[in-house]
Amino acid sequence: MKIETIAIHAGNQKDETSGAVIQPIVMSTTFERAADGSYTSGYIYSRSANPNRTLLENVLAKLEHGVDAAAFSSGNAAGMAVFQSLKPGTHIILPDDMYHGLRNQLKALFVGILEFDFIDINNTEVLKQHIKPNTGLIWIETPSNPLLKLTDIKKVIRIAHKNGIKVACDNTFATPVFQQPLVLGADLVMHSSTKYFGGHSDLMGGVLITPVKDDWWVKIKQVQEMGGAIPSPMDCYYLARSIKTLPYRMAGHAKNAQLLAEYLQKHPKVEAVMYPGLPEHPQHDIAKEQMLGFGGMLSVCIKGGEVEARRVINSLELFTQATSLGGVESLIEHRASVEGPDTKTPFNLLRVSVGLEHIDDLITDMEQALSNY
Ligand SMILES: *Cc1c(COP(=O)(O)O)cnc(C)c1O
Repeated sequence: MKIETIAIHAGNQKDETSGAVIQPIVMSTTFERAADGSYTSGYIYSRSANPNRTLLENVLAKLEHGVDAAAFSSGNAAGMAVFQSLKPGTHIILPDDMYHGLRNQLKALFVGILEFDFIDINNTEVLKQHIKPNTGLIWIETPSNPLLKLTDIKKVIRIAHKNGIKVACDNTFATPVFQQPLVLGADLVMHSSTKYFGGHSDLMGGVLITPVKDDWWVKIKQVQEMGGAIPSPMDCYYLARSIKTLPYRMAGHAKNAQLLAEYLQKHPKVEAVMYPGLPEHPQHDIAKEQMLGFGGMLSVCIKGGEVEARRVINSLELFTQATSLGGVESLIEHRASVEGPDTKTPFNLLRVSVGLEHIDDLITDMEQALSNY
């Protein structure tokens, strides 16, 4: 089945007792046992499993061409489950341009437990130099946040697997609509479902998806169940509901982002636009090779510095100045000031989550903000 069909059907189950077309929300924390003490429904206690989470995990696994998924209460909880599933002393290689929240999590919570290096993962020589006997995982994030750099997924996987190392991919920016890392050979996919999966800036969640139920996956499911950072039945329901429109929303985000990127690129007050769909993007060829579309995120460097960039933000009316991304409404953010003192993000860079408003209205708003500064 095609992704539009999977998105609508794989996360839903009609209710046999009432005839309801849409699945009920099962709020119960506990499930009745039979006379002999067995659990006839298969459910025991909602931290271990809940019908709404089962449906959500089913659609997530199918969307990414995996065999199983684990849903968490946030993207960072999903990332943390990966790190907690590794043997203490394991060495991880990560990109130097990655989601700052997970980089900070490793630096704050895993010092002395895991070893990690943040490197330019696309540089094959640098990558090979950093592989050590205890390297167990290479983490990639593509397109990256906020520089929209791409990682050649197949190339990294080839090097990793030759050395017996697993590869996990943060697929939040692309979503399975535009990029399917498990099909390219990755060993794990991670998402912040707070972003495009949720799609309406009103729920938090994270997910992991596996291509095999191996020992590593068993460990990850243990962290989910025993750690307990699980989403509520309500959140699972809303997420499965949002996912039904994911393919159509992504098509709209990508169309708007492409047109906004092309408009910004020609503007005299713009120094640079980072968007993988532009032929001028240094890795446009990799994007065409491994992506089915270029996504809804772009970054723009305004001529001048932080002052000029802030003036543009403050003149915009439709774009809201706020962090996060992937909602139907357009957001814009001065990224360097969010990321803290060790940021490598340029101070004139604005990250844009291009929403689903009409593109003419978005461009008109940009036009007036850029002409004002
Ligand atoms: C937001 C984000 C995360 C973290 O997810 P939360 O839901 O905020 O915990 C991880 N990776 C990327 C790429 C993100 O954008």
